[in-house]
Amino acid sequence: MMQSCAQQTTHSVSESERFPDSLKIVKTDEEWKKILPKEVYDVTRKEGTECAFTDKFKENKETGIYCCYCCGLELFESSHKFNSGTGWPSYFQVHKKQNVSIERDTSLGMIRDEVSCARCDAHLGHVFTDGPKPTGLRFCINSVALVFKKADK
Ligand SMILES: [Zn+2]
Repeated sequence: MMQSCAQQTTHSVSESERFPDSLKIVKTDEEWKKILPKEVYDVTRKEGTECAFTDKFKENKETGIYCCYCCGLELFESSHKFNSGTGWPSYFQVHKKQNVSIERDTSLGMIRDEVSCARCDAHLGHVFTDGPKPTGLRFCINSVALVFKKADK
């Protein structure tokens, strides 16, 4: 097991929580277009939004991890998923802070915080502050941007 031992960080966002640039996956739009199904490409690369209530994980009660469709990075845990009633998969916490990047998005005349995969920059959805305890956050994510990986027994 590789663990950094010397550094004890206390801040919520620190260097060690940022996804390392050297591990990022960078492809051109054309390359993504070739490897992704159209609906995934439209959402993750063109910042589209899938229709509400098309959540492909709605009936998924399995324990596991939701990963980035584009690069497989682990993003959300099934135990953090909750029914928000919005029609999109919702989570109140991310699997690892460093695996997602959050940026202010002012498109469509709204101020929202956009959530993207930190490794391949795929657009995932948005985060709102009306979620349940303990975080008060609601990560509202497009299900087409995710693949589910069942937990090992
Ligand atoms: Zn990714």
